[in-house]
Amino acid sequence: MDGLRELYQEVIIDHNRNPRNFHDMPNATCSANGFNPLCGDSIRLYLHLNNDVIEDVAFLGQGCAISTASASLMTDHLKGKTVEYAEQIFTLFHNMITKDDADAILKLGKLGVFAGVKEFPARVKCATLAWHTLDAALHNESESITTE
Ligand code: ZN
Repeated sequence: MDGLRELYQEVIIDHNRNPRNFHDMPNATCSANGFNPLCGDSIRLYLHLNNDVIEDVAFLGQGCAISTASASLMTDHLKGKTVEYAEQIFTLFHNMITKDDADAILKLGKLGVFAGVKEFPARVKCATLAWHTLDAALHNESESITTE
């Protein structure tokens, strides 16, 4: 289990140092801002939707390693997928980091690296910030969300 934990840590460090899809998107069809005052993480998320498909997704922002790596892995994971799929994954992801849900971890693949966050309740908001911001962008709610 220690080896696995180290691997998880490495994935998070890698995505924090070299975040994927970390850029502006001038042709975005929707976007939203997310802020986690507890930690000071802030992101802006961009989506390019084609009907129900997330053709492109990108983000910009500043935050801790967990929030940056989470946004990076999320954008990687959702590119080319449907909105419905994204919403299912968000539910699984939320279950994984708030309760014991081995089934969710199995279904999440690489996103399972955040399973350990469950033991650090203060960091749950860091890990879910990108997902809440995605939700806001998809539903065209207010342009800005806060986790508080
Ligand atoms: Zn944070």
